[in-house]
Amino acid sequence: MSELKSAAEELDAADGLAALRGRFVLDDVVYLDGNSLGALPAHVPGRVQDVVRRQWGELRIRSWEESGWWTAPERIGDRIAPLVGAAAGQIVVGDSTSVNVFKALVAAVRMAAEDGAGGPGRDEILVDATTFPTDGYIAESAARMTGCALRPVAPAEVPSALGERTAAVLLNHVDYRTGRLHDLPGLTAAVHAAGAYAVWDLCHSAGALPVGLDEHGVDLAVGCTYKYLNGGPGSPAYLYVRRDLQPRFDSPLPGWNSHAEPFGMRPGYEPASGAPRGRVGTPDILSLLALEAALDVWDEDAVSVEAVRAKSLALTDFFLRCVAEYVPDGRVESVTPVAHAERGSQVALRCDDAGDVMKRLIERGVVGDFRAPDVLRFGFTPLYVGFADVERAARVLALTLGEAG
Ligand SMILES: *Cc1c(COP(=O)(O)O)cnc(C)c1O
Repeated sequence: MSELKSAAEELDAADGLAALRGRFVLDDVVYLDGNSLGALPAHVPGRVQDVVRRQWGELRIRSWEESGWWTAPERIGDRIAPLVGAAAGQIVVGDSTSVNVFKALVAAVRMAAEDGAGGPGRDEILVDATTFPTDGYIAESAARMTGCALRPVAPAEVPSALGERTAAVLLNHVDYRTGRLHDLPGLTAAVHAAGAYAVWDLCHSAGALPVGLDEHGVDLAVGCTYKYLNGGPGSPAYLYVRRDLQPRFDSPLPGWNSHAEPFGMRPGYEPASGAPRGRVGTPDILSLLALEAALDVWDEDAVSVEAVRAKSLALTDFFLRCVAEYVPDGRVESVTPVAHAERGSQVALRCDDAGDVMKRLIERGVVGDFRAPDVLRFGFTPLYVGFADVERAARVLALTLGEAG
């Protein structure tokens, strides 16, 4: 057996999270695309069936109360809270990440405008220049609607770009393309020192590494639930509004679900207090409750985010080691930082014919994804990826690249 194969065996044998893999529906494919769509926890179909057949089919309208449908957005928000370092009562689940970016960013600009009333005003939004595109598109529209200028800035340049006109800063915690982890504590502190608001997008960090929203004083945050939280395709996203900011959260989408008295059916709007203020309209109950079931994986086994992070770093370290060993020099170049403090839970390899290479990897049972123009992306979900998977992925990659010549 090769040295790396036996190293993988030892690492798997010592892995305290190894048993969790059995809770997911997986086959002999090496699934390294959990940063795009998490795998299905095995108990979820049964729970969804109950929601459809019994809650909807038999209880019908009664389920809004009796099955807890109405309060699901905040109840499930409280289930996500410990995974991102938030106390209860600050997260609401619903809508997509894109929609929540809009709510959070406009609300942040409105708070900044209120703070700056009487002064020169705060009329600039900084946006992560390397952001996942949707955040940038939404920020552009939010800026136009609020009369702000939008300035794209690389995260590392944010401290020097901040000024007395900065209203809000929208950043990705982990870069979706390179897997770079940004300094959330340091950047949030810099944003605050300038008197602005920090909005973080946690899509590629929540469920893979500790975030520490409360600890680091983050103002607003959003994230999706279908990546490392395994909520299923299109499962609703979440919105975090720090408790002390909630009374000032002025939603640009004040739908009836966020009304203080939603069933009062009043003509005038009056916002609910607390996290439900971030709600909009009728929640997507089937997806929401599939997500709620998926989150059981974390509770039932008391999985700690710290243990997940430790394994995630071990997996990406081992993948880089296997790639260095198996893949001929110069054939791929890692764009993922080597330093642990700067690495999320994926490895991105730049490669000339990346689109074609990924197609052939998938045919051989190693599933990552391709991000234009030239990146092979491999996501490592510590709940179900093991070290033997990692070794096999690197070996198949080397074989495939060898053919491509
Ligand atoms: C995946 C991802 C999204 C997805 O947005 P949706 O509205 O859920 O489609 C947004 N932002 C980032 C940083 C992402 O990685």
